[in-house]
Amino acid sequence: LKSDKIAHLFASSRLHAASDDYIRLETDLHEALEKNAIETWFQPKFDLAQHRIVGMEALLRWNHESRGFVPPQLFVAVAEANGLIDKLSQLVLKATLKQIIVWRSMGFDDLRISINISPMQLRAESLVEDTLCALKEAGVDGRQLEIELTETSVLDNPEQARQALAKLRASGVGISIDDFGTGYTSLSLLADLPLDVVKIDRMFINAVESSDRSRAVVGSVISMAHALNLRVVGEGVETNAQLEIMSQLGCDEVQGYLISRPLPADKITAFLVNQRTSEQARAS
Ligand code: C2E
Ligand code: MG
Ligand code: MG
Repeated sequence: LKSDKIAHLFASSRLHAASDDYIRLETDLHEALEKNAIETWFQPKFDLAQHRIVGMEALLRWNHESRGFVPPQLFVAVAEANGLIDKLSQLVLKATLKQIIVWRSMGFDDLRISINISPMQLRAESLVEDTLCALKEAGVDGRQLEIELTETSVLDNPEQARQALAKLRASGVGISIDDFGTGYTSLSLLADLPLDVVKIDRMFINAVESSDRSRAVVGSVISMAHALNLRVVGEGVETNAQLEIMSQLGCDEVQGYLISRPLPADKITAFLVNQRTSEQARAS
């Protein structure tokens, strides 16, 4: 990780860009991991054709005793720089598999949960083996898991990425491109990779209401994705108008504050139970 990236993250956070603070954060992160103070929360993904929650994204949450919630982007960058990223990733994967089993036992057995993979993990040889091992140990079907990668991390070394992703996909694990549109790649560049989902970045969703051009861009990304047999998720949908436009443009799923903010698992369970209750009421 480049030091300018860390500097940028500090500048954009409420923390001061002082190295003292960086070191303290690093120390605190070690401690938080030891004390199991880092949690995995979930944010629903809503299918626009089925009108129901079909999946979730797992997101790290660290509620620091004096700093409050530390932005995941910030502590993930720290963890990438100091080697703690493996521990963080193991934590998310474990918590996600555990939650898949809990939801499965309640009859919610068709959810697909995604986890974010940092570029460093994709480069590491162990990603495929660790993931498949963990799935096997937990007795979870690969089809219930998805990984989210950024454009740049797959295009760093496309051939290596292609091989790793193909192995995961052979076990049913879904592959998703996160924050699409923020890098400088086109979908056609990604066409050779074994992918299932494209997540259109929040920045574009934000603009679809006010800008015809943005709507056209999003519409053509969706058409191209569909031509490549990829599903499309719109990220960061906050208003009904945005949801309506995304639906008209043929987007498959939306994720955003309008449906739900990321929440601890038990709160999401309540959401799922509610959904089931109203579906049963409608069916009877
Ligand atoms: P991401 O993977 O693109 O995750 C989506 C982010 O958008 C989340 O931010 C989520 O809370 C936020 N979001 C969702 N809907 C809305 C909305 O309607 N409005 C707005 N304003 N924001 C919305 P979060 O949780 O702060 O995570 C930020 C980033 O940190 C993630 O972006 C991801 O890159 C990274 N991250 C989080 N958890 C992990 C993890 O377990 N591993 C790795 N490697 N990175 C992670
Ligand atoms: Mg993501
Ligand atoms: Mg994203």
